Amino acid sequence: WKEAGQMQNLEITGAGRSVSTQTDSMTGQIPRLSKVNLFTLLSLWMELFPAVEGQRQKSQKNDNSQHNNSCLKKNKKHTKEKKNKKHVKKTGLVVVKNMKIVDLHCSSEELHAGKIALIKHGSRLKNCDLYFSRKPCSACLKMIVNAGVNRISYWPADPEISLLSETSTSEDAKLDAKAVERLKSNSRAHVCVLLQPLVCCMMQFVEETSYKCDFIQKMAKTFPDTTFYSKCRQERIKEYELLFFVSNEELHKQILMTIGLENLCENPYFSNLRQNMKDLILLLATVASSVPNCKHYGFYCDKTEQSNEIHNQSLPQEIARHCMVQARLLAYRTEDHKIGVGAVIWAEKKSQNCDGTGMMYFIGCGYNAFPVGSEYADFPNMDDKQKDREIRKFRYIVHAEQNALTFRCQEIKPEEKSMIFVTKCPCDECVPLIKGAGIKQIYTGDIDVGRKKADISYMRFGELEGVSKFTWQLNPAGTCVLERNEPESRESKYLQ
Ligand SMILES: [Zn+2]
Ligand SMILES: [Zn+2]
Repeated sequence: WKEAGQMQNLEITGAGRSVSTQTDSMTGQIPRLSKVNLFTLLSLWMELFPAVEGQRQKSQKNDNSQHNNSCLKKNKKHTKEKKNKKHVKKTGLVVVKNMKIVDLHCSSEELHAGKIALIKHGSRLKNCDLYFSRKPCSACLKMIVNAGVNRISYWPADPEISLLSETSTSEDAKLDAKAVERLKSNSRAHVCVLLQPLVCCMMQFVEETSYKCDFIQKMAKTFPDTTFYSKCRQERIKEYELLFFVSNEELHKQILMTIGLENLCENPYFSNLRQNMKDLILLLATVASSVPNCKHYGFYCDKTEQSNEIHNQSLPQEIARHCMVQARLLAYRTEDHKIGVGAVIWAEKKSQNCDGTGMMYFIGCGYNAFPVGSEYADFPNMDDKQKDREIRKFRYIVHAEQNALTFRCQEIKPEEKSMIFVTKCPCDECVPLIKGAGIKQIYTGDIDVGRKKADISYMRFGELEGVSKFTWQLNPAGTCVLERNEPESRESKYLQ
């Protein structure tokens, strides 16, 4: 691997200190995702960010009557454009600085993910690492390289300018791939494939914890037959393999040759590469199905709290689910030896921005971990079952919400709708922090609400006022929810 990596710009074990270990294999510690794999998975996931058409239609509805005709015309034009653009694949992008996520993007109808990152960050992209779900096109690459990025990593399947689409543009796609190679070899930036094999029990661990997570467990109370989980998972696996994998080996080899990875076409590199890709796709599908796309369940607030204020209106379910899966992925970087928690903060601008995420933009993210710079062994890591209170971990672990707030990349603006997605109910230590930071909405599970354990309690969440709480629960009343969210119509659109 390593040899091929040096020849091919393929780095399986990165040289950087923080990249080099797939897991800090300490006894008693649970397997962790490497940062590189986490960034790669998040880039794939961002490619799947729900299309923002729903949001757009909603805002158009208000001034519908006058514009009906022009809308129709626009739509016709739209489908035409879509056909022409079919060879450009939607791409997900994670921007990383000093090994910390500073932004999440995806392509919009008009702009590629790389161009969006450039518009939003400009020369601040200098020294950043970019993780793409597809090899970016030459137009994106030249600007990114020009901005002085440090490293560009991409998923080695079909590139942004698709080599698989059967249109007359395939010649153009090849020409673009050539230009990309030329830009790559003349740039200071490192353009490479960064995939690391998972540690041996990682997959099994992800399967178990996905099944045991609050969301599935809550649903299991209503549907004792939990085969819905494995069914959903099988569907996701099929769907993502179609999207992110090239099942035909010869075809995959052809793509690798065209995008300058010919040395990876030899075995064992080729089969290792494909195995790594398959493992990561399987992991993504497993985590994604832990917050299943199900019309009976979603993030809802209790009836008494329903409000008409704009700031308190719920996100479309598919977007809420998407962000929660981001948090679930982050949880696999935990340093807590028992329970991983992930948190992501997003906000909504008042107008559509250029991003494929519509009005949403990323604020920050985190997972539970010991304070930055400390070694695992610096602190006690016993849980509350151990008798001696002094050696327990709870005073030392920084919670996911706390890390997301500390390392946020944007300010939380009081006039905007901001929301935090946490994989477990925020504890009494975190609830006032979230409120104090000015976050308007919490999306989480409510399994722990009202629980009091020896070292951690969840009493304050229930009483919290001034922040809307959307917990994973049975769709409270079909009709009422239809009015509010129209999840059914969105659902069917999403499934198509
Ligand atoms: Zn591009
Ligand atoms: Zn907490």
